[in-house]
Amino acid sequence: MDKSSGTNLKSLWEQTVAPLRERLDSTDYTTWIEPMKPLAADDRSVEIAVPNRMFAAWVEENFLDELSDSWVRASGRNSRFHFSWGDVAPQGELFGRPAPAADSGHETAEKLAQELKQSRRRTTGLIERYDFTSFVVGPNNQFARAAAMAVSGQPGTLYNPFFVFGGVGLGKTHLANAIGHSVLAENPSARVLFMSADAFTNRLIDAISHNKVQEFKNRIRRVDVLIIDDVQFLAGRERTQQEFFHIFNALYERGSQIILTSDKYPNEMQGVEERLCNRFGSGLVADIQPPDAETRVAILERKAKEERIHLPLDVATHIAERFDSNIRDLEGALTRLSAWASLNRCEITLDLAANLLGETAPSERRPPTFDEIEARLTTYFGLKPGDLKARRRTRKISDARQVAMFLMRSLAGASFPAIGEHLGGRDHSTVVHGCGAVRKRCEKDARFRAVVETLVRELGCG
Ligand code: ADP
Ligand code: MG
Repeated sequence: MDKSSGTNLKSLWEQTVAPLRERLDSTDYTTWIEPMKPLAADDRSVEIAVPNRMFAAWVEENFLDELSDSWVRASGRNSRFHFSWGDVAPQGELFGRPAPAADSGHETAEKLAQELKQSRRRTTGLIERYDFTSFVVGPNNQFARAAAMAVSGQPGTLYNPFFVFGGVGLGKTHLANAIGHSVLAENPSARVLFMSADAFTNRLIDAISHNKVQEFKNRIRRVDVLIIDDVQFLAGRERTQQEFFHIFNALYERGSQIILTSDKYPNEMQGVEERLCNRFGSGLVADIQPPDAETRVAILERKAKEERIHLPLDVATHIAERFDSNIRDLEGALTRLSAWASLNRCEITLDLAANLLGETAPSERRPPTFDEIEARLTTYFGLKPGDLKARRRTRKISDARQVAMFLMRSLAGASFPAIGEHLGGRDHSTVVHGCGAVRKRCEKDARFRAVVETLVRELGCG
């Protein structure tokens, strides 16, 4: 490593933090910026000593963008920041000063950890419950999972890019998220970014229209792990592909890990430039196949345990037989069954499963779409179209909105963030709260329960 000389590095660092000294109030500055000490820098990275891991994570979430920009201006290098703590720095100097808030008491540290977790959800885009622990392994996904674990152990070095392909609802998004979580668990200051190819396209279009393309690109180019989900959606989007190609190369050069998922093998994605497909296939490609019957039962049991649903083995086997090609449908069936059982306060039995899930093929009894649920509720509650998405909150509208959340969750089996997004960009926690409120009210209020039951039936699930 061709390290910058000590004095040079010191003065570069002073230039880097100067704008923060101006902007921040002095307590923040002395708490978070002053304790950082640059240890070494070369063309690709800057190493900074910090007091501890929490401190690194906090600085990372709150000041890293600004520091990185300022560092580029001062040094002319787009380097990656590494934080180290513990025995790296001379103890006296770093640990002699007053400890930052994170260490000043148990409670504060816990609160901080909580805040970090929340802000991480906002900034990484990762879906919380998709981790390795909740991913059931079977012969169909064994290889992809092993490779994913290897990638998360040594991001950027082993298999780059890592490309996962497989059919709809087979666990690609889950596995890709699991890598992100695992990297963060190992190294909380790693910059992980998860985005669907669609979101990538939209953000790019947005940046173009606001003349902020360079800013957008710089942001992405600084991440350590970039996960782009469903890259088949880049098909036919030439400008997006072009920008993505450059981002891909920049990240690759700097040793960042790139993870991609798709429903097709790299070279079979129609409408995606050949040079991009070639890059996609140049690391490790792993596929996920539909799960066998045993794995399907294991997935159902795992899910039932997570959601505290009592699921007898014969019912699990029955569902697993009926839904054999897509794990999302498999889970959807269980969700419908348990929603029905809890509304009617009955046990989940084989009879109930046979009745409710019927003899028809799953595709004919597909769950209702968001739009169908929204339309039905709008009529039922006598609202104006768009009311459920709007900010307005009369009692009637917010009741209807909560029922919509509950039905979207229990009938359509949708994720909390997706529901929030659909209902006017509401926060994930608002949806969690809404669903819980409906469930509680059903237990106490018989009339309300009857309303919900009617809607459930009408929407084709009774
Ligand atoms: P894809 O991205 O391939 O369409 P997802 O990752 O969204 O599929 O998976 C669909 C659903 O199935 C998710 O709820 C996911 O948690 C679940 N799932 C998929 N594979 C597994 C697995 N091996 N173990 C547990 N749950 C799984
Ligand atoms: Mg997916």
